[in-house]
Amino acid sequence: MHRGRLLVISGPSGVGKGSICKKVIEKKKNDVEFSVSMTTRPPREGEVDGENYFFVTTEEFKKKIEENGFLEHARVFKNYYGTPRANVMEKLEAGRDVILEIDIQGAMNIKKAYPEGIFIFILPPSMAELRKRITGRGTESESVIELRLGEALKEISYLDKYDYCVVNEDLDEAAENVIAIITAEHSKVTENIYDMIDKYKEEI
Ligand code: 5GP
Repeated sequence: MHRGRLLVISGPSGVGKGSICKKVIEKKKNDVEFSVSMTTRPPREGEVDGENYFFVTTEEFKKKIEENGFLEHARVFKNYYGTPRANVMEKLEAGRDVILEIDIQGAMNIKKAYPEGIFIFILPPSMAELRKRITGRGTESESVIELRLGEALKEISYLDKYDYCVVNEDLDEAAENVIAIITAEHSKVTENIYDMIDKYKEEI
């Protein structure tokens, strides 16, 4: 059994990475799944434990940090968030690919913990289009939009830390490009080639 691939997907806020990830999983639901993060934040209306997040107490979270139970973790505002190592590893060992949609800081921590991951950066077609998408969300004031665009530009400067980039001009096409990356990664010649060669030998 081949180990699954850990796909780490980042990109500026408003670029549509969440929609791309959902689409990829929809199209590849037998092979690819999301990692469920753990958090100390209380569940919001409609959120399901084990589906949206694993909701835990601060004590439980801190205990898990001490046990080295996270691939990465971070404090966002007053709450802790983290990627549970065992859940991800179980899925990978079962041959499933796992998608982590995570900010650049988190992605760089994953890179240290799991360098075999595949790091994909989602780009907007242009800054003008990103502005349009952020504005289109509704309530943000002009100063907040400027702040977001400045932040996006800073994030884009991390592109060289990633293996692949996908421009999200069209959602379907962007999802297909991510799937193409997954297919290419699974077609790589790795140490498993010896098993494959043996299989052909046996077949003669
Ligand atoms: P929310 O509370 O709105 O669901 O998420 C708040 C923030 O936490 C978002 O920016 C989200 O990307 C981040 N976040 C969610 N899960 C994780 C995680 O496992 N690790 C890290 N580093 N950040 C996370």
